[in-house]
Amino acid sequence: MRVLFVTPECYPLIKTGGLADVAGALSLALGGLGCEVRVLLPAYPQVLQVLGKTKTLARLPRLFGASGRLLSGRTAGGLEVLALDAPRHFERPGNPYLGPDGKDWPDNAFRFAALSWAGSQLGLGRLGSWVPDLVHVHDWQAGLTPAYMRFARGRQPPTVLTIHNIAFQGLFPRNLLAKLRLPNSSFTIDGLEYHGKIGFLKAALQYADLLTTVSPTYAREIQTSEFGMGLDGLLRHRSDVLHGIVNGIDEAVWDPAEDRDIHAPYSARRIKAKAANKAALQRRFQLAPDPDAPLFCVISRLTHQKGLDLLVEVLPDLVAMGGQLALLGSGEGSLEAAYRAAARAHPGRVGVEIGYDEPLSHQLQAGADAIIIPSRFEPCGLTQLYGLRYGTLPIVARVGGLADTVIDANVAALHDGVATGIQFSPVTAEALRFALLRAFRIFADPAVLDRLRRRAMSRSVGWSGPARDYLALYGGLLEESGVSPKPGEGAS
Ligand code: ADP
Repeated sequence: MRVLFVTPECYPLIKTGGLADVAGALSLALGGLGCEVRVLLPAYPQVLQVLGKTKTLARLPRLFGASGRLLSGRTAGGLEVLALDAPRHFERPGNPYLGPDGKDWPDNAFRFAALSWAGSQLGLGRLGSWVPDLVHVHDWQAGLTPAYMRFARGRQPPTVLTIHNIAFQGLFPRNLLAKLRLPNSSFTIDGLEYHGKIGFLKAALQYADLLTTVSPTYAREIQTSEFGMGLDGLLRHRSDVLHGIVNGIDEAVWDPAEDRDIHAPYSARRIKAKAANKAALQRRFQLAPDPDAPLFCVISRLTHQKGLDLLVEVLPDLVAMGGQLALLGSGEGSLEAAYRAAARAHPGRVGVEIGYDEPLSHQLQAGADAIIIPSRFEPCGLTQLYGLRYGTLPIVARVGGLADTVIDANVAALHDGVATGIQFSPVTAEALRFALLRAFRIFADPAVLDRLRRRAMSRSVGWSGPARDYLALYGGLLEESGVSPKPGEGAS
């Protein structure tokens, strides 16, 4: 089965969030199941740098104000990549979506229409000899691909959209309709119109054959007005084709027994070695060198979504109960300032590093006793999965993928030996405070903590299960649409 991914980011070529991890790891996992996956993404400078040698597959002269080439290449990890090289759109260093002023690039509509257009042309078999059986697009940046395909003539492979975060919708003024090569007839409530604007994500929600999102709970939540960000009605309408599949993690990159970024490797069997990582983390964050003080960590974008304003409120209690906090993150100025102030107010108890630092994020997972994730909404979340793998108790809001991946240590779950962390609800400072109190009780009982950790570390959080689920969906879709992959190309 040949599958084309259309995505704005993909690890290890370019990453700003979880979407990149998913695009990279899922395509490799599908490859392991016999699928032939190629990943189309913009040829940002970082992408070309990581990719190294490339071949030109086709020229694209009409890319919405730019001309470009389709390049093919391969990463060291074996990812087959199609890079859309349109320098006028993509030869910009730094964050792929934001200019130096921290605001969206003003021509994002054209930049991601170009990506979507190239995806549609590949899907329709008009670019080179490799023709996918199925096109899988990710988030709003690739959202026009299913629309362009629907409006074209000829062979139409089925399309899948994965929603990684419905908060990002790609809304643009209606006067761009013709310039984006979208027919007037598409600008209706049953098309891609959204409150008087062109909605790139809405286009894909409307025109893709199958919709997925990154956890079953988030799939349910986005059909409600509380979480649907205005698209809940359409999602309810399409609920028969909407599926939730929890993300996996790259178990080779996130393996405490083999992790080269951490101070001392450890495993469920040799859990005692985790203590050396805790001591190293306390030194790194200038925290008191106390092996018995419960050490909580946060690794996150500092935004309203992540609920970290609630933790600021509760921090004095965490410290008063004898805990420590090490935080790594960056984002909204007011939150960065609040955490810097907390570190000054609680020397030796709260350590803060503002920035993005991949190796340090591994050291936090290895050294901390618990990771706090108080998100107001969380499509899937990855850091709680890393926490499980590193025996670092996840303390999570009961929303989205957090609800699906952490089993709360309530009396019944503890009795049955299935608990892996702590959940709290509603997402308020009060509920978070109570969750921390519960965590302190667990830390006071080494036998209970040990069982929880072992159980968490033994949970399967890799990609093989999710990749099989995607493959099953692909198979059903191809069968429905009457396209069956040629013998030898399919996967069981
Ligand atoms: P989101 O995609 O909403 O930011 P996820 O939990 O799905 O949240 O994924 C976040 C990813 O980014 C994880 O791999 C996490 O470890 C990483 N991350 C977030 N902030 C930082 C940071 N400041 N430094 C290093 N890694 C970070």
